[in-house]
This record gives sequence, structure tokens and C-alpha cells, in this order.
Amino acid sequence: MTENPPSARLTRVNVLLLGGTAEGRRLATLLVAEAGVRVVTSLAGRVSDPILPDGEVRIGGFGGPAGLADWLRANRIHALVDATHPFAVGITGSAAAASRSSGVALLRLQRPGWVAGSGDWWIRVPSLAQAAAALADLGERVFLTTGRQGLATFAPLDRHWFVVRSVNPPDPPVPCRMLALLDRGPFTVDGELDLMRKHAIQVVVTKDSGGNMAAAKLAAARVLGLPVVLVDRPPQPNVPTVTSVDEVVDWVRGLAQVR
Ligand code: NAP
Repeated sequence: MTENPPSARLTRVNVLLLGGTAEGRRLATLLVAEAGVRVVTSLAGRVSDPILPDGEVRIGGFGGPAGLADWLRANRIHALVDATHPFAVGITGSAAAASRSSGVALLRLQRPGWVAGSGDWWIRVPSLAQAAAALADLGERVFLTTGRQGLATFAPLDRHWFVVRSVNPPDPPVPCRMLALLDRGPFTVDGELDLMRKHAIQVVVTKDSGGNMAAAKLAAARVLGLPVVLVDRPPQPNVPTVTSVDEVVDWVRGLAQVR
């Protein structure tokens, strides 16, 4: 009997992992350790010095759903995992469309949204524009952690003063009264309490990202009795979705067994 070369024996399931999240990195570490799985993580390239996941990485957009479908075919991908951020609607829509057109199996990994607990004072809004509108009645000193991309929405608010935290420096247009803090999570409750007290913050604005990396500000706001304006998640395409990295690993193992 002719033996396959070792590489052919081991590379049975090729996975493209759309990342840019902490759970995407955790998943890459787990999949790299799986026998018979080859995983390539894709990053958008938004952050100048991204935390790189284990294993192979490619960086940059695909050129929409058709470009992604071409990439899947050209790289003989068997499984597509969308582990992107809950607010990354463009790439998530592309993944759904590319999976349909290419026939490559898709699984979305999405962390659960945050749930208010006792003592939380949350104002849920459907959009950044509604968040900006809600600030009129809630205080002038704002801790804004919605990411640097949506800052233009808050730029017209010249009565408010903002502490804006982002990984890379924000690009204009930005609010005229603003302190930019460059930092990335995970953050601690004590650290968030210090920051909010130091800047006499009156209201927090954030997106319902979910997960632990960014939840400390919600706990700190609860301790200080501050309102939190929470932007709801955008609608998602109807695709198979799980909430834990272990479920994705099981899914990939299942694909490896049928191949
Ligand atoms: P987006 O609006 O969905 O992405 C816009 C375009 O960027 C996509 O159409 C795609 O370009 C490209 N892109 C996005 N993610 C990509 C990936 N993982 N690999 C290759 N290309 C990608 O996304 P976004 O909100 O700008 O977020 C960009 C990245 O940052 C995502 O990977 C996301 O996981 C991460 N992130 C986002 C947020 C957030 O609040 N939105 C927070 C933390 C991390 P083409 O159409 O050319 O393929």
C-alpha cells in the first residue's frame, strides 16, 4: 500500500477563522493543536500592532463576499468560522453570502450580550446616533468606549466633554472637547473606578459587545451609580451560531471525522 506523505495525512480540514477578537485568538490556539486541522486566521488590519493569534495569519479585506468566496476556493477551505466582533456587520454579512455561494460550511461564534443586573442603570439604544441623542439629559462628562470608528456621530456635541478610549488614535471628525486615552483591554474594575473618578465621569457610553474583556466599566458604573448608554447589537444574518470556542472545536472535529 502506498502511504500518503505526512503533510497530506495531517491536513484534512482547512479552516478560515475570521478573527479580531479575544475568543478568535483562543480558538486559533485550540485549533492549531488539533491533529488534522489547518487554521488560518484573518484580520482586517485596522489596528497597527494587532495581538497576533497562534498559527497562520493573513491580514486585509477580501473585497466583499465574492472576493471572500474566491479566497475560500483558491485556498481549498472546508470550514469557515466567523469569530468577528458582534458589531462587525460587513464581514459577517460577507461570510454568510460567501458560504452560500461557495458551499463552504459556516459557523458563527458570538459571545452572549450583556444582561443588566441589580443596581445597573442602563439605557439601551438602537444606534450610535440614538446614544448621542440620549446624552442630552444624562450629564456632560462622558466616558465613550464605542471605538474610534463611530466618533463622528458625537462630534457635533460641543456642550459635552469626552474621555475616548481606543486602541489606535481616533481620526477626525471627533468631538472638540475630548481627551483620547490609548489603551486596550482587559480592564479591571479598580482601574475603571479610578479613571471614572479622576475624570468626574457622569455617564458611560458603550456598545453591547459582551464578554469579560470590557465588562469592568459596567461594574464600575454600577458602583458609582452612573447611567450607561448601551448601544444594542445590529441584526445578524441567520446562520448556525454558537457561543463558546469549545463548540467550534467540536464542530471542526466533526467535519474532520466525515472527511
Ligand atoms: P466590518 O465593518 O464588518 O468590516 C468592514 C470590512 O473590513 C469588511 O467588509 C472586510 O473587508 C474587512 N474585514 C473586517 N473584518 C475582517 C477580517 N477579520 N478579516 C478580513 N477582512 C475583514 O468590521 P469592523 O467593525 O470594521 O471590524 C474590523 C475588525 O475588527 C473585525 O475583524 C472585528 O472582529 C474587529 N473588531 C471590531 C470591533 C467593533 O466594534 N466593530 C471591536 C473589536 C474588534 P472586505 O469587504 O474587503 O472583505
